Amino acid sequence: MKNFDDVARTSFAHLPTPLEPMPRLGARLDCPRLWIKRDDCTGLAVGGNKTRKLEFLIGEAQAQGADTVLTFGALQSNHARQTAAAAARAGMVCHLVLLDTVEYREPAYEASGNLLLDRLFGAKLHVAKTETQAADAVRRIVGAEDAEGRKLYVIPVGGSNATGSLGYVECARELCSQSRERGLTIGTVVTATSSTGTQAGLVAGFAALDEPVRVVGINVYQQDHAALEKQLAERVAEVSATIGGPGVAPSSLHLRHEFIGEGYGLPTPAMCEAVELVARSEGILIDPVYTGKAMAGLIALVRAGEFERPTRKEGEVIVFLHTGGTPGLFAYRDALRE
Ligand SMILES: *Cc1c(COP(=O)(O)O)cnc(C)c1O
Repeated sequence: MKNFDDVARTSFAHLPTPLEPMPRLGARLDCPRLWIKRDDCTGLAVGGNKTRKLEFLIGEAQAQGADTVLTFGALQSNHARQTAAAAARAGMVCHLVLLDTVEYREPAYEASGNLLLDRLFGAKLHVAKTETQAADAVRRIVGAEDAEGRKLYVIPVGGSNATGSLGYVECARELCSQSRERGLTIGTVVTATSSTGTQAGLVAGFAALDEPVRVVGINVYQQDHAALEKQLAERVAEVSATIGGPGVAPSSLHLRHEFIGEGYGLPTPAMCEAVELVARSEGILIDPVYTGKAMAGLIALVRAGEFERPTRKEGEVIVFLHTGGTPGLFAYRDALRE
């Protein structure tokens, strides 16, 4: 792997995040090899996976002399909330263009959770009902910032580009050193996938380190499965090229599409069960939009015997990557109360 220690980077994440066993959940599922990587504990503004990406993205923005950032997300975007916090921390102005298209409604969804925190961090919110309105908002922001002589840095949806994914190449490295310290072999990492930057960083990272870890992404975002698969493959290639890693065969890219339910941000019964089960068995909070569905997927795959390969090595474990999202619990109060 190319050394990217000299790549621009800021430092606000609490790293390394803990790697912990989940013995009680494992016992409930009759699968004693379950571990959890606590990227909900990255430390910035209730944590989450975008923080690792933002260390590189904000670093790049500052290196380019930017004083303003603009990014995108759903109304309850965790990425938007972490970007707002990172911008506050870096002394930058933050514009959030939030697409209000998820067809989930309860009063808390429009007032609480991440949206409440975006406002606390002083971000400028631009809520759009359609893609066209979002594009108009971007044009207005670019024009206004330009007129004031400010320099804008645009962060893509989910912070997912080769720069942001470096955060998850680093996470792959961190997981390898933590597993070595504990004498574990990581067979599989399960993560929620939406804009693919997290999974791509992990896949490219493990490949560059020559570690045969299977990364299973649970699609929580995209109804067009082929489009997501294509996006993941392209992103992996892009990240591998950036870090000088090997090519990754399509057969090594694993996405599961059957746990999304009716769509992004729409609750499923299995998600609600998973949130409750993890809370009651491990005292850990997962979220309704991403990690709840990813955990529902992990549980279903464990029950279906997907991890029982006969060649499994002694000590090989399954790691659930907790990508955060905790504030979402408060935006889905009614769904979780039922
Ligand atoms: C953004 C997000 C993900 C998905 O990460 P991608 O890199 O966009 O695929 C997973 N979990 C949570 C909580 C997130 O906010």
